[in-house]
Amino acid sequence: MNIENLFKHKKVVYSLEVFPPKKTNSIDTVYNTLYGLRGLPVDFISVTYGAGGSDTQQNKTCEIASLIKSEYNIEPVSHLTCLNSTKEDIIKTLDNLKKNNVQNILALRGDKSDTVIPKNDFKYASDLVEFIKKYDDSFNVLGACYPECHSDCDTIYQDIENLKRKIDAGVTSLITQLFFDNEHFYTFMDKLQKANINIPVEAGIMPIVNKNQIQRIVSMCGASLPRALTKILSKYSDDPIALKDAGIYYATNQIIDLVANDVRGIHLYTMNNVDVATNITNSIKNIITSSNK
Ligand code: FAD
Repeated sequence: MNIENLFKHKKVVYSLEVFPPKKTNSIDTVYNTLYGLRGLPVDFISVTYGAGGSDTQQNKTCEIASLIKSEYNIEPVSHLTCLNSTKEDIIKTLDNLKKNNVQNILALRGDKSDTVIPKNDFKYASDLVEFIKKYDDSFNVLGACYPECHSDCDTIYQDIENLKRKIDAGVTSLITQLFFDNEHFYTFMDKLQKANINIPVEAGIMPIVNKNQIQRIVSMCGASLPRALTKILSKYSDDPIALKDAGIYYATNQIIDLVANDVRGIHLYTMNNVDVATNITNSIKNIITSSNK
C-alpha cells in the first residue's frame, strides 16, 4: 500500500527501520533480522541506503525492500540518497524499484563526508523528490526532518522553510531524526503547524542499548542527551545487560508519551537488533492498537 493512504486509514502508524549489511557481512545477516521480526504488528519497514556505498551495496536496498514485500507481505520503504548520484544512477535505481513493485521511497540528500563525492546533479533532497515525481508520479515519497535542526542549517526556522520545498515537491509524510527528549518533538510540531505544514510526521526513536552507540550517534546526528538519559548511561555503561534493559525502558517510555500526545507515527530505528525491536514492539502494541480504535 502507498504509505500516504496508510496515514489516511490509521491514526497512529508504526514502522521499523533496518539496514543492509556492511561490505564485509553477508546479506543473510539482514535476512535473519527480517525473519526474526516476522509476525510483529508493523505497518511498514524501511531499508537504509549507503550514500557512500558501492553499486552492489546500494542494489541491496532494493533487493531487501523487495523481499520484505514478497516474503513477509509488509510494505517496504526504500531509502534513496542523491548527493553522490547522477541522474542516470537515480533512473537505474527507480527502474529497479519499479520492476520490484516498491512504491514508497524515503528521498534523502545523504550526509556530506570524505567518502561521499558530490556529483552535482542533485544538491538537496527536494531536487530528488522533484525528479522522482517527474519520473513516475505513482511513487509515494517520504522525507526526513530534524526536531533539533539539521546540522548544516543555522536556524530551525530556515530549516523549516527548506522543509517546505520538499513538501511542495511532493513529499507526503515525514520521519524525524532520532531525539531523546520528547519536548523537542512537541516544540518542533508547534513550529510546523505555525508554518502551515500539516502532513503526518513519524517520530524516529532509537533505543540506546550499548555503550558504543552513544558517542557515535550523538556526534553523527547532533541529538541532545537529556539528564535522565545521561544518568542511565553513566550508571549502567559498564553493565551491558542493565544498560540494554534501561535503554529499552527509556525508548518505550518515550513512545508511550508520544502516543498519548497524538503522534501520527512511531519509526523505530532497530539497528537490526531483533531482540530489542521485539521487546519494544510487544510493550507498546496494545497502546497503538487502542489509539487506532
Ligand atoms: P535536505 O532536505 O536536502 O536538507 C539538507 C540541508 O540542506 C538542511 O540543512 C536543509 O535546511 C538545507 N536545505 C534543503 N533545501 C535547501 C535549499 N533549497 N536551499 C538551501 N538549503 C537547503 N543517510 C543515508 O546516507 N542513508 C540513509 O538511508 C539515510 N536515512 C535517513 C533516514 C532518516 C529518517 C533521517 C532523518 C536521516 C537519514 N539519513 C540517511 C541521513 C541524511 O541523509 C542526512 O541527515 C543528510 O545530511 C540530510 O538529508 P536530507 O534529506 O534531510 O537533506
